[in-house]
Amino acid sequence: MAIYEYRCPENSRFEASHPIGDAPATMPCPSCGEPSRRLFTAPHLSKTGSSAFRLIDSTHRSADQPEVVTSQIPGTPRRVQQYSSNPLHQKLPRP
Ligand SMILES: [Zn+2]
Repeated sequence: MAIYEYRCPENSRFEASHPIGDAPATMPCPSCGEPSRRLFTAPHLSKTGSSAFRLIDSTHRSADQPEVVTSQIPGTPRRVQQYSSNPLHQKLPRP
């Protein structure tokens, strides 16, 4: 994600965050609603690549491309299905 800057026809500026290369050329101004043109400025990339941005990007990505879990999360205890609540059954040999 990168921060893009837009300028309203009324000469106010605002910033919007978009994936790199996907920023629209115009966006509606948040205060007046007029279409605002994107400005060409130095990219604000200092925070990209941080763990916070990776979390935000993966959250956006999981909205339409959910990650498939194929194994158990490491470190979680394995849940044993209990068929009987009788404590004597726990002493029976297991397969
Ligand atoms: Zn405006």
